[in-house]
Amino acid sequence: MTIQWFPGHMTKARRQIEQKLKLIDIAIELLDARIPLSSRNPMVDDILRNKPRLVVMTKADLADPRETDKWIAHFAAKGLASVAVDANTGTRIGDIASKAKELLHEKRERQRAKGMNPRAIRALIVGIPNVGKSTLINRLAGRNVAITGDRPGVTKGQQWIRVGSEMELLDTPGILWPKFEDQLVGYRLAMTGAIKEQILNVEDVAFHAIRELSGRYWDALSKRFGIEQPPADLDDPQEIVRVMEDIGRKRGCLVSGGRVDLEKASGIILRELRAGKLGRITLESPDDL
Ligand code: GDP
Repeated sequence: MTIQWFPGHMTKARRQIEQKLKLIDIAIELLDARIPLSSRNPMVDDILRNKPRLVVMTKADLADPRETDKWIAHFAAKGLASVAVDANTGTRIGDIASKAKELLHEKRERQRAKGMNPRAIRALIVGIPNVGKSTLINRLAGRNVAITGDRPGVTKGQQWIRVGSEMELLDTPGILWPKFEDQLVGYRLAMTGAIKEQILNVEDVAFHAIRELSGRYWDALSKRFGIEQPPADLDDPQEIVRVMEDIGRKRGCLVSGGRVDLEKASGIILRELRAGKLGRITLESPDDL
């Protein structure tokens, strides 16, 4: 899915979510466990305002489990409940309904005390493109739901999807725009596949990937590609390119004269990183904050 996020589209996306907020008890904010900061919409606090919220980190199967635990503790310290899941296989998605129930417990008890019988918890999934909204909805539904997306101004025709006995989910998720203000955020979104490479140059994205991986996960990089010499200085672009060339040579990405085809090498680096071939990697740690 390609969405051009012009200001008009952002306003429309925001309005669509605000309309849906009226229908629900809790918002489920999806973040990519590998980049919990960069995959967060810059205005999400403002848009969701006082709605009860559960953070769900998707793609936890690709993320470094130690960092994921740190993020859960970090969010908890800020008063935000969070869980980490693999939406593809459904690992830990059962935690979503149980956490939501926990978060709404008091409100529901108050309703019961007034003699009301609380209906199923109604939830809306929100997040930036490619964070795993459709995958998670299908997993939670236990079947393939035709997710149509919103047409302008249309919030009719939405369906509630039953999740277990106590939760219902809106079948059309809220689509939020990613952050744009910071170039590094853009590169991290591209590295993880959240935004398409066509927007950014593939060699630039791979360059930043190698720079970040050399700093945080040199052992994984070295093992995957059979390279031995880490960059002497992460701030020296020539050293990063040298590592990219080493990888290219190992993978036979050569053009005439024995030069390395950097574009081809970059494609390989990014494909394997995204597929989890380098192991479980998280590019943003609460330790950096
Ligand atoms: P949406 O745009 O937010 O609806 O994102 P999608 O549900 O279409 O997911 C985008 C891509 O991420 C797809 O290729 C999914 O298979 C993949 N994906 C989603 N969730 C997970 C997850 O938890 N783990 C892994 N490994 N891949 C996931």
